[in-house]
Amino acid sequence: MIWDQELAALKEKGLYRQLQSVETLKEDGQALVNGRKMLMFASNNYLGLAQDQRVMEASVQATARFGAGSTGSRLTTGHSIIHGNLERKLAQFKQTEAAIVMNTGYMANMAVLTTIVGKGDLILSDERNHASIIDGCRLSRAETVIYSHADLADLEMKLQSNRGFKKTLIVTDGVFSMDGDIASLPGIIDLAERYGSLLMVDDAHATGVLGKDGRGTSEHFGLKGKVDIEMGTLSKAIGAEGGFIAGSKSLIDYLLNEARPFIFSTALSPGVVASALAAVDIILTEPERRVRLQNMSRRLYDELTSLGYTVTGGDTPIIGIICGEPEQATLLSQELHTYGIYAPAIRPPTVPIGTSRIRLTLMAEHREPHIDHVISAFKAIRSTIKRIGT
Ligand SMILES: *Cc1c(COP(=O)(O)O)cnc(C)c1O
Repeated sequence: MIWDQELAALKEKGLYRQLQSVETLKEDGQALVNGRKMLMFASNNYLGLAQDQRVMEASVQATARFGAGSTGSRLTTGHSIIHGNLERKLAQFKQTEAAIVMNTGYMANMAVLTTIVGKGDLILSDERNHASIIDGCRLSRAETVIYSHADLADLEMKLQSNRGFKKTLIVTDGVFSMDGDIASLPGIIDLAERYGSLLMVDDAHATGVLGKDGRGTSEHFGLKGKVDIEMGTLSKAIGAEGGFIAGSKSLIDYLLNEARPFIFSTALSPGVVASALAAVDIILTEPERRVRLQNMSRRLYDELTSLGYTVTGGDTPIIGIICGEPEQATLLSQELHTYGIYAPAIRPPTVPIGTSRIRLTLMAEHREPHIDHVISAFKAIRSTIKRIGT
């Protein structure tokens, strides 16, 4: 079969992928990976809420009351009082007029991009945006122009040289998922205003993590209310699953009426919705989780940098250690594995060719000794694998 050849080619290039069975343990920052206990440094569960007793209990109670599944799409039989409660809670959290929940963050991006823009419109998209934005742009049928990563001058040049479209939408990740850097939101907002463009920010990794109250990238910069369309997921710091869009009442009403990923898919199950509701409350009332996460992330970034590694990020819990070729990243990942640290290699097409890396993500559940252990592992590995990071 043709796919056998394709698979062989992937193996040849060091790009073959396999599933690992992972079971997050309630003990600080640990997980069973294929049955072996390891320190988890690859999870998106930034605040540890996926295993929080209150969040899990909310899911159990909602399941007992409303059932295992939602039984239909939101506009048929799948909507319930808790779905409405979650949307009100998210709007309050994001300080917008309204919010709408979708089944995944991926679908939330699809929903916005295929509904808000179409033929005759222009999308300006950062070259490092998440795959779900890329796919949404493709499906939207709008003209899509990619600007260089975080390059405001390039964005402005492309705004200038692409005039005459009905609408223009700038879309950017708030926190870039593979590098852990934060979008230059003040400059992007300024350009959007000057060129009359709409602005959408994907806050998948910023929700619950950035800003004093965890409200995301716009709170981080003190620019709440300046972003037309704020997307977030319930699947990362919120610890459940699903995605959402927050914005004006009319934006949300429009998506409810027109967005195909919202209309033609069964609503999230009650247990998931109740977990997310409980988690948002914890995010707002326990800021110490965020502070601990930020402090540990900064320390690990600084230490790895001073060991001589090429490190991305610094202001978020996502830290990239650039290795270059896929084989080098895989080798480093295997070395870390022998130290009991789970941090998989990230290779093309997830990251650009030549920037294969280890991607570490921290969690509020980690403790200082875990960070010490990672630092000493990288120190020991540095002397055995000379080529990495140079
Ligand atoms: C994870 C992620 C998504 C998709 O969210 P899911 O809820 O996992 O579907 C979208 N955008 C970015 C930047 C992400 O990191």
